[in-house]
Amino acid sequence: MLIARNLTKNYSNLPVLKGVDINVSKGEIVTIVGSSGAGKSTLLHILGTLDTPTGGEVWLEDVNITALKGNKLADFRNRNLGFIFQFHHLLPEFSALENVCIPGFIKGAKSNIVKDRAVFLLETLGLKERLEHRPAQLSGGEQQRVAVARALINEPKIVMADEPTGNLDSQNARELHQLFTELSERFQQTFIIVTHNEDLAKMSTRSLTMKDGKIV
Ligand code: ADP
Ligand code: ADP
Repeated sequence: MLIARNLTKNYSNLPVLKGVDINVSKGEIVTIVGSSGAGKSTLLHILGTLDTPTGGEVWLEDVNITALKGNKLADFRNRNLGFIFQFHHLLPEFSALENVCIPGFIKGAKSNIVKDRAVFLLETLGLKERLEHRPAQLSGGEQQRVAVARALINEPKIVMADEPTGNLDSQNARELHQLFTELSERFQQTFIIVTHNEDLAKMSTRSLTMKDGKIV
């Protein structure tokens, strides 16, 4: 589904990625682990079109995503990729349900279809009683689950997550892991996850270790 070939990245002549190759198949949960500064976030951002490589290419199915620019890139990203970060950046003035719906409305999907799916996702994530709550009225674990529902609303081909459990207690982290596994098994949802969490790395279908700009 996703193929990266010979990715390199320099920040003002300093090499941060030194030739990375990755193949990810549909339904896989791939974790990227390794010490701080190894290049994990840089790699994830390039795979997710949030940053451009100095050299190499990334293909998502038949699209060379490293060649996309401007509106085409923004539209492709919103339709095909979902993002989960340690800090979820929910919009404080909107309800949980509205936060989840917004990327669907931006995509231009029919509003009743978006809303039905958002309700389904939030209910599946155990937030049935929280649809109209604003982020400040939700616990940290609940807010992160809203962010997961938002990442899934447009049925992304791949979900990219950067330290998704970094801000959660161990119980909520375990629940998030179970959720990723369930989504992978039930819907063949594909994940690429940067994490320091060893439990999460263990439950992934494949764990890649980065060291000094390379997968080792
Ligand atoms: P990791 O996620 O494994 O901790 P990063 O990808 O965040 O590693 O960073 C890899 C290296 O690239 C680090 O040395 C970091 O300081 C450097 N780096 C990351 N982003 C930038 C940037 N925007 N400008 C300059 N250097 C950067
Ligand atoms: P968790 O362990 O899942 O993170 P908490 O124990 O923090 O949950 O919260 C339990 C419940 O209390 C949550 O369902 C949430 O709705 C409510 N709650 C938590 N924080 C707040 C808050 N700041 N304002 C209002 N309700 C809150």
